[in-house]
Amino acid sequence: MRRREFIVQGFAASASLLGVISPGLGQDVPIDVIVVGAGLAGLACAKRLMNAGKKVVVLEARQRTGGRIWTSRQLGYPIELGASWLHGINNNALFPLATRQAYLRTVPTNYEDMVTFGPDGLPWSLSRTKRAGSWIERFVNSAERSGRSGTPLSRLVPAGVTPDQSFELIADVVHEVGAELNQIAAGYPQGDGRDLKGADVLVPAGLDELVRYLSSGVDVRFGQDVRLIKNAQKGVSVTTLAGVVYKAKKICCTVPLGVLQASKIRFDPPLPAAKSMAIKRLGMGLLDKLILQFPFSFWDPKQLIRNDSVNPGLWAEWYNLMPVIGRPVLMGFNAASTAKQVARLPDVAIVASALAELKRCYPSKTIPAPSGYLLTRWGDDPYALGSYSYIPVGAAPSYRVELGRPWNSMVFAGEAISSDFPATLQGAYGSGDEAAKKILAMGI
Ligand SMILES: Cc1cc2nc3c(=O)[nH]c(=O)nc-3n(C[C@H](O)[C@H](O)[C@H](O)COP(=O)(O)OP(=O)(O)OC[C@H]3O[C@@H](n4cnc5c(N)ncnc54)[C@H](O)[C@@H]3O)c2cc1C
Repeated sequence: MRRREFIVQGFAASASLLGVISPGLGQDVPIDVIVVGAGLAGLACAKRLMNAGKKVVVLEARQRTGGRIWTSRQLGYPIELGASWLHGINNNALFPLATRQAYLRTVPTNYEDMVTFGPDGLPWSLSRTKRAGSWIERFVNSAERSGRSGTPLSRLVPAGVTPDQSFELIADVVHEVGAELNQIAAGYPQGDGRDLKGADVLVPAGLDELVRYLSSGVDVRFGQDVRLIKNAQKGVSVTTLAGVVYKAKKICCTVPLGVLQASKIRFDPPLPAAKSMAIKRLGMGLLDKLILQFPFSFWDPKQLIRNDSVNPGLWAEWYNLMPVIGRPVLMGFNAASTAKQVARLPDVAIVASALAELKRCYPSKTIPAPSGYLLTRWGDDPYALGSYSYIPVGAAPSYRVELGRPWNSMVFAGEAISSDFPATLQGAYGSGDEAAKKILAMGI
């Protein structure tokens, strides 16, 4: 049994002993809307409904808010284990919120400030980097506009692709989408790349500060692992793993696509065929991180260090946190099948494989033992079961729209439902806000 589930079940036992069922905001104040999940979608939905004067309760399985925003302070300073960047700040609703309302400082990322090490351990020249960079840009643009919807992206890769181009496909596509080229559907915008305008920025104080701002005043009930949603025209009831029952007029369900795909929540009546199909066909990608804290920095003073390994895809990208937090810390990434394989290894083997790749890039440098590390296994996280959604072969963006259509007294929200910015923070936030509007339009 997982420790978290044990804790939840422990709470459950004591709650039912006390006869706690249908807990509202006090006996005489019924809940208008239950929101399942206290990530950005859930919080955005709750906030809009509360501003409209509705009584909202957010049920969250974890013991924290934020969901796939997960800021660790275990090393003594904030490190993002989930989302890191606010992408495209010129049309990202979260940017003004973070900077002007939550007063958070942001640091832009310059992706051109980068070095790429080839399989021979030698850094690419500037012209080689530029050539490979413009090739991948052309490839992605033409694949998106190819009209060959449903074709695996791998089929559009030209014969005779160079090793450098193959690496770009991993770094710019597989890492971005969290899936392999033969899984990703051509013909659609993928990842978070669509219509993003402006810089990408980091929040050194931690994205959990933004979550704290968004969740202030919201009634979040922690350790509430929702297992059953009864969704009738006249109202809803929700049952948790602990057997606690909540009732309300409407419900917004923001659990990640991975959780829906694993059928961890039972719906009564069962989901309509179109929604079940959308859940089944959409894809949940995987991106994992390893944070290595060193006693001193031995790497290039570049923001991005890329590793075209002899083991393609392994520790393909490192982000240098030194310029952002002033500490010798590297954030490494693995995606898709490489991330799945790495996640099966014990921690010590994962750190060793990362150090071996760094040594390949810096053979003449003394690489000290890390003084601390943090790593993620998002695919095993029971309340995420993956990192973010994508359009696989056999699906289409219309599946996101289908999933977002109100059904009886329920609306789904979350990054996977966002048509504009799927797989992102602003996508999750916007979809939660939209869901609240849909609920208000239903009339409560
Ligand atoms: C490693 C990684 C890196 C990323 N990098 C970026 C980035 O740099 N920039 C960016 O914009 N986006 C990034 N993303 C994506 C971004 O984090 C998500 O799109 C966004 O946080 C999703 O928000 P959400 O509200 O839709 O879902 P979540 O944040 O997952 O919220 C859903 C909530 O539902 C809860 N829940 C699940 N099951 C149950 C249940 N049965 N009962 C009750 N509650 C439940 C979960 O605990 C969670 O709190 C990244 C994601 C990952 C994993």
